[in-house]
Amino acid sequence: MNLQHYIGGEHVPSVSGATFTALEPATNEEYLTVSAGQAEDIEAAVAAARKAFTEGPWPKMPAQQRAGILRKIADAIEKRDDEIASLECRDTGLPITQARGQAHRAAQNFRFFADVITTLGEDVYRVASAQLNYVIRKPIGVAGLITPWNTPFMLETWKLAPALAAGCPVILKPAEWSPLSASLLPAIMEEAGVPAGVFNIVHGIGEEAGAALVAHPDVPIISFTGETTTGQIIMRNAADNLKTLSMELGGKSPLVIFDDADLDRALDAAVFGVFSLNGERCTASSRVLVQDTIYEEFVQRFAERASRVKVGAPDDPATELGALVHPEHYGRVMEYVQIGIDEGARLVAGGSRPDTLPVGNFLSATVFADVSPKMRIFQEEIFGPVVCVTPFSTEEEALELANDTRYGLAAYLWTNNLRRTHRLAQQIESGMLWVNSQNVRDLRTPFGGVKASGLGREGGKHSIDVYTESHIVHVATE
Ligand code: ADP
Repeated sequence: MNLQHYIGGEHVPSVSGATFTALEPATNEEYLTVSAGQAEDIEAAVAAARKAFTEGPWPKMPAQQRAGILRKIADAIEKRDDEIASLECRDTGLPITQARGQAHRAAQNFRFFADVITTLGEDVYRVASAQLNYVIRKPIGVAGLITPWNTPFMLETWKLAPALAAGCPVILKPAEWSPLSASLLPAIMEEAGVPAGVFNIVHGIGEEAGAALVAHPDVPIISFTGETTTGQIIMRNAADNLKTLSMELGGKSPLVIFDDADLDRALDAAVFGVFSLNGERCTASSRVLVQDTIYEEFVQRFAERASRVKVGAPDDPATELGALVHPEHYGRVMEYVQIGIDEGARLVAGGSRPDTLPVGNFLSATVFADVSPKMRIFQEEIFGPVVCVTPFSTEEEALELANDTRYGLAAYLWTNNLRRTHRLAQQIESGMLWVNSQNVRDLRTPFGGVKASGLGREGGKHSIDVYTESHIVHVATE
């Protein structure tokens, strides 16, 4: 298979002819040749998108009409959801049942932002009886969208939908480890009636295609999801042009369980929170903090549940944990398992490749107990099916452990004590807190993190804010 860029409505190779290859995580065999974009390919995409912005109908189109096209995009995605799921599963190693959920959510992203853009109002302020201010939101310009490899199609659409809804032409730079599902987007966009030049893809390596997009002066906004260290590089490189940045970065999210919680449900949440999506999710609850009165019972039951998580071929509907995305990432996750052992944490489940799966990036669901906050496995994002369990005795200690991290994306709290819930909700350092629940999402709410987990929020009107500039008009009527 051969993937090319999509620029101005045409499938094109790189100007230089450069390509790279992508691997299938279940076998590590090369199966895709992908055009490797460089500065000149970004230049061509920016020219096409810029033309669509200054001369095309998209930014000026009435919101209702744009929303109609977004709904057609959702229809076109739904029509292909089996195909999207199977490409995603093959390309990322995610279990097929979970890849299906991601395809469903992608369609929902477009329907949701079609509704947002047709219901969002603008503000008017009356300054004095004969004077008023009104605020209009203008599309910011060509949007650069740089996305990660873990749930590519869902995250691409999570940025595409609001950017397009706001009236911005876009250039998408998919992650080089999982570029395949994005190849369905051009046909989807064309079928829905998106004008040429409004939607563009440039494939490529982050340091080349991604960096060129970040450096381009005619791209005023970069929306990025990925590692914190990459986010820092992007921020530095975007400084010259003072770009708007939206960044959803790493996490090391705590799941705190008090002894008054419903332990069965907390256990289900702990298993789901770190082993679904192969543990390759930014909101993974990778640090489980458990009150000492129930600690041993929890560790034993968690280890038992983890050992039953079915690791297997991503395309097998019975599989719960598939193959990690790439041998380089797999190597890094396996290194963390060794670090945990060397640091003296107690390995109570997993820790190795299942015997039945001799090739591909497979790791059994792995649980370390007795992890202390000084250990690297407590502090560093592993981004795989590896979880730390740590005991605490008091609420103060739980809070201190929960916040003892550079990250602050999500947190999860299990308790039936109402006052404690509200006390901790105000003190836990995270952008999002789920209490007695798994991370159910309402797309209207602001999604994002504090500290090293990001800048800005995505979701509902917060996403529209990212892709628009507010402009006030002050009118004296006398
Ligand atoms: P992940 O490992 O979660 O994919 P990365 O931060 O490595 O996170 O990559 C996320 C996205 O950022 C990918 O599309 C990658 O190509 C891109 N990227 C990596 N380095 C840079 C860079 N220096 N400038 C712009 N984009 C980059």
